Amino acid sequence: MSHPSILIIEDEPAIADTLLYALATEGFSPRWCSTAAEGLAALRAQPFALLVLDVGLPDANGFELCKQLRASGHDLPIVFLTSRASEIDRIVGLEIGGDDYLVKPFSPRELTARVKVILRRVAPAAAPGTVTVPAPAAEIVTNLVTISAPFTHDELRCRISYRGRPLDLTRIEYRLLATFLGQPGRVFTREQLLASAWDEPEASLDRTVDAHVKTLRAKLRAVAPDDIDPIVTHRGLGYSLRE
Ligand code: CA
Repeated sequence: MSHPSILIIEDEPAIADTLLYALATEGFSPRWCSTAAEGLAALRAQPFALLVLDVGLPDANGFELCKQLRASGHDLPIVFLTSRASEIDRIVGLEIGGDDYLVKPFSPRELTARVKVILRRVAPAAAPGTVTVPAPAAEIVTNLVTISAPFTHDELRCRISYRGRPLDLTRIEYRLLATFLGQPGRVFTREQLLASAWDEPEASLDRTVDAHVKTLRAKLRAVAPDDIDPIVTHRGLGYSLRE
């Protein structure tokens, strides 16, 4: 199937409409159900490549529904939509069996970016050709927020959270991290980072990329001391975000 089908279970029509539009624009074929019961029926009737699941549904809790789906053998990726940041811990703790989450309000672009990342990740496990993720146009890629699971990037507010905790970043640290998040796994040279995070790299007195990466790492480590460093150093080349 060239247009991966995405099921949205969300009771707020305004949010569902936005998601339907955003996903269809990106080449997916989305379907919307407003209740858990309706969603379950849809999942029984046809296969979906991914499920976008609201936590607060009128007839069920999204977490319970997810557990139920996992218990009955549904292994499709699930992205939770939640309106309470306090729920993140439960999701991130993987006790639920979800793959990712977004806290409302979020940008539709953020959702489609994450859906793509997840489908790319699961694609090799599927039968060849069953899931074809549409490639975004090159100019869109640079604007996308492509986020690996522990990070949440609120583009409008220029805020990034790590493991559910908002990071207190300087402007340059924020831009560096946003650059990494835009393309996880890509190795950026110091020159590329300088160009993307500094307003006037050639005029700036503070051109030490390494020093800012160091302070950024320290802030991430302060949140999760036991995590493997999410920023990878490539000797002689530059840095990347661990995928
Ligand atoms: Ca809801």
